[in-house]
Amino acid sequence: MNLSVDISDWNSFLSSLAKKNVVYAPFKEGEIVDFKLVEDNPDEIVYNSPKTLTPLKHFLFPIKEKVTDTPSQKKVILIGAKGCDLAAIDFLDKVFLDADYPDPYYKARKDNTLIIGTDCYDIYDNCHCTAYDINPYPEKNCDLMLNLIDDEILISDVSEKGKDFLDEMQKELDMQESGKSLIQKMKKSRDSIKRKSKALTKGIPDSKKTAQIINKSINRKDKVWKKYASTCVSCGACVVSCPTCHCFLLVDLPGQKMDKLRTQDACQYPGFEGLAAGVDPLEKYFVRFSNRYVCKFVNRPQKYDVIACTGCGRCIDTCIGKIDKNEVIRALR
Ligand code: SF4
Ligand code: SF4
Ligand code: SF4
Repeated sequence: MNLSVDISDWNSFLSSLAKKNVVYAPFKEGEIVDFKLVEDNPDEIVYNSPKTLTPLKHFLFPIKEKVTDTPSQKKVILIGAKGCDLAAIDFLDKVFLDADYPDPYYKARKDNTLIIGTDCYDIYDNCHCTAYDINPYPEKNCDLMLNLIDDEILISDVSEKGKDFLDEMQKELDMQESGKSLIQKMKKSRDSIKRKSKALTKGIPDSKKTAQIINKSINRKDKVWKKYASTCVSCGACVVSCPTCHCFLLVDLPGQKMDKLRTQDACQYPGFEGLAAGVDPLEKYFVRFSNRYVCKFVNRPQKYDVIACTGCGRCIDTCIGKIDKNEVIRALR
């Protein structure tokens, strides 16, 4: 069902929705676009910019969470999920929604979050989703798709949850079936951004080829790994900003209640794989550095049969050591 509504009516609807619900959407602050709470400011939402600074995963797998409390039942509406972050959901679901041991905390957040995907009308310098066959617009893993075209909000359902929400929305909003010209404009924009992304990312090997390159490099290309690892300061920003990284630590909290805190961890931190008696398979700095690449392109895809790098480019944007993962892969060839 493709429906459309005038942007001013939509903004009034969002303002009242945000009074009773927790609604997040992307806003611009300086050069950065990131999720913020929607309050009385829906006219400032930036719908169709490329990725937000914060990856979607932080809404489902927070930086820290007490895992001895009842899982959060907070209902959240999240507007502005991008193709790269939605593709990462395939991967996170495999990790956290295992058939035998589903993670109740991830599951509760996922069940209680309405995810609304929006197209990218442009791409940033380090975006490369199309190199891994991911489109710069939402297709699945969301509940609704929404775009701003010519002062009209074009919205369609993707999941049952999204359809129910759209049905409720229609009771409060004067929505029309979207005309052909709006849909044509959306398709045209999608074709054009996909072409642009493909042209700009030409030469980046696809995920299978990348896996072969990395596999062959282990114990053979130490010089290259050492060269690039030499500017790595083990800050972990590449991991925190990555929409698929999912490692965590369980920490005992002080007190009588035996509470436990789950905090995100990063293989780029020294001691990440430290074992008893001082053994650490990732002790050598360049081996630790290469671990992220081996994990993303070799180990995790082998284990879960799903892509573990969605080409968002955040690890390149955030790297203090100015390390471009695609340059590393090119150098390993
Ligand atoms: S490895 Fe880098 S480009 Fe790939 S998904 Fe993670 S942050 Fe994005
Ligand atoms: S091992 Fe490293 S690269 Fe792999 S998921 Fe964990 S933090 Fe991310
Ligand atoms: S962001 Fe860059 S400097 Fe920081 S841990 Fe990752 S590769 Fe190293």
